[in-house]
Amino acid sequence: MFDLLENWKRTDYAGDLNVESEGRDVVLMGWVHNRRDMGNLIFIDVRDVKGIAQVVFNPLNGTQLLTKAHNLRLEYVVAVKGTIAVRPDEMINPDLKTGRIEVIAKDLKILNSSKELPVQINEKVVADEDLRLKYRYLDLRRQELQRKILLRHYIIYEMRKFLTEQNFYEIETPLLVRSTPEGARDYLVPSREYKGKFYALPQSPQIYKQLLMISGFDKYFQIAHCFRDEDLRADRQPEFTQLDVEMSFVSPEDIYKVMEEMFYKIFKEILDVELSIPFPRLSYHEAMRRFGSDKPDLRFGMEIQDVTDIVKNAEFRVFSSVAESGGCVRALNAKGCGEYTRKDVDKLEEIAKHLGGKGLARMKVEGGALHSNIDKFFSVEIKQQIMERLEAEDGDLILFVADREKIVCKVLGEIRNRLAKELELIDNSKFNFLWVTDFPLFEWNDDKGKWETAHHMFTMPKDEHIQYLDDPEKYGDIIGQLYDLVCNGMELSSGSIRCHRPDIQRKIFEVIGIKGEELEKRFGFFLKAFDYGTPPHGGIAPGIDRIVMIMTAAESIRDVIAFPKSLKAVDLMSDSPSEIDQSLLDDLGLLIKE
Ligand code: ASP
Repeated sequence: MFDLLENWKRTDYAGDLNVESEGRDVVLMGWVHNRRDMGNLIFIDVRDVKGIAQVVFNPLNGTQLLTKAHNLRLEYVVAVKGTIAVRPDEMINPDLKTGRIEVIAKDLKILNSSKELPVQINEKVVADEDLRLKYRYLDLRRQELQRKILLRHYIIYEMRKFLTEQNFYEIETPLLVRSTPEGARDYLVPSREYKGKFYALPQSPQIYKQLLMISGFDKYFQIAHCFRDEDLRADRQPEFTQLDVEMSFVSPEDIYKVMEEMFYKIFKEILDVELSIPFPRLSYHEAMRRFGSDKPDLRFGMEIQDVTDIVKNAEFRVFSSVAESGGCVRALNAKGCGEYTRKDVDKLEEIAKHLGGKGLARMKVEGGALHSNIDKFFSVEIKQQIMERLEAEDGDLILFVADREKIVCKVLGEIRNRLAKELELIDNSKFNFLWVTDFPLFEWNDDKGKWETAHHMFTMPKDEHIQYLDDPEKYGDIIGQLYDLVCNGMELSSGSIRCHRPDIQRKIFEVIGIKGEELEKRFGFFLKAFDYGTPPHGGIAPGIDRIVMIMTAAESIRDVIAFPKSLKAVDLMSDSPSEIDQSLLDDLGLLIKE
């Protein structure tokens, strides 16, 4: 048999070489990352998974070798034998980890050639993303991207190690499951055996992990693929990965502790960053009131202040009528933005309108007083009180929103984030973790005219609110044993203590309108399991893609997934989704409606 690598065995990774190996003979295998052919002297950068090393071909080791090296082109695959030499001082490359050494080539084997590349790997300027996604296997050769994917490996490795040491067991759950939507649309898989019937791909292993607790596994985790057919956003993908966790006999405190210790360990091991644990906590209501968001970025201040009590008696009808009708007026102090032009603020107002707000009232602070085109409607005392509440000083700009509380939070929360970016208030070297707790269990959906679970339908209400399940007037007041872990303004995970009592779980289904035959059909199997000794249990599911994004400072979720979908949910490399053969459709008994 022809053995391309006969007598050639890799001794080292290119990226691992250093001055300590001076004089040693090595065999490297990798790709031609760069070449400089100076006729009698050829420099080749050989790249492998660990990095790059410079290889020098000179005539001292024979002209035949030099001739062979002339033939090398970018991305050819090579095996090189050579001796490690320390570079003369003037040749040291401080930008390269191996920049103090070079390999003096003694032999070369060209293992494969490469066509001219459609996307460049060794250049700083990267090609258009669609083109890079089409040639993803090449784009993944870029060190910057490769580093992120490798870091992802180490993060998952640390998770596995930590959780195993804490008596968790990794258990796989099925990918072909019953369609039991958890909030988003399911991806469906048609059954050939049972025409007209479908499996679904799991939105998360939620039901299975709870069943594993009923089976007595006590503590479970899984690196779980989840699939949700939702509208796409920058930090979303149709399929994503969660560290799915469930524990028996626990309270939220136990779950916080395990997660805090796990994140502490991962950040320490991988980034050498010491997170400060325990993470601070904010209730949902407080987070919304002070920061306008249930995932506030606390790397900067700019807190939102409620001024309803101050402005309710002002002559400005826009404010007073909102206050009278049960809405609220809130404001934030854009520190130092007094210079903003009308156009600048109009741009912010556009955002407000886009989010459903009616407008953005504004006042500037000059000469120790508030000024604006509406200031005649406010008495000096009222303006003074506003200034005090917002700690306003000369040069500041105060922005107000008056509306229903939900809209006010949404608008000011977004404007707070935008301003922080614009004003460069965010310290990107910080990792700001916090728990947001005490979310409402239900939310009224105006469009559908019904109650929905705000987060999770398998969640236990707070003990003192269980009785509210019998009073429709109180559904909106029920707080669930729900918690989110937030970092730098991103929701990293949500979790809850589950309903281990079937009577409570049934009531929750009932409130959201799943009952009778439909309930039995969709969740009967699950509810039945609860009748046979279900331990109290709870869990959480940190999103791995988002964790890796935060830890690698990636701007796009696509940079931390080896083979992601495009923004339009397409795999541009394999051109999927794709049409399928008519015979397959026939097998499945499917007819495509035009
Ligand atoms: N299954 C939930 C989710 O995917 C997380 C959890 O509650 O554990 O959001």
